[in-house]
Amino acid sequence: MNMEEHEIQHIEQANPIVEVAVEMGLRVRGNLGTCFRTERHMGDTEPSLFFNVAQNTYFCKTCEDVGGGVIDFVCQFKGWDRPQAVEWLVHRIEFDRQTRKMYYSKGKKKG
Ligand SMILES: [Zn+2]
Repeated sequence: MNMEEHEIQHIEQANPIVEVAVEMGLRVRGNLGTCFRTERHMGDTEPSLFFNVAQNTYFCKTCEDVGGGVIDFVCQFKGWDRPQAVEWLVHRIEFDRQTRKMYYSKGKKKG
């Protein structure tokens, strides 16, 4: 399966990285999160992940292999492969859409 590049882009744009990180259980304050590779941060009192909300990317100053886009985040955080991460993010968009639909349909209810 080879997903089109613009489709991947759409999936990344529809999933804000900080929201995804928080949903996955990461502690985020502003644009700062805690690096999930804590074993690499010996003596580091606050292992920080830096989020770039505008670019929808993140990185860790200490871990060279921690960083990238939303799909990279899901892969690295969960230890999933790319197709699995993409699938999860697609479901997340769908869920979002369903919730919104439910919310808005409430007001339109007749009688
Ligand atoms: Zn790190």
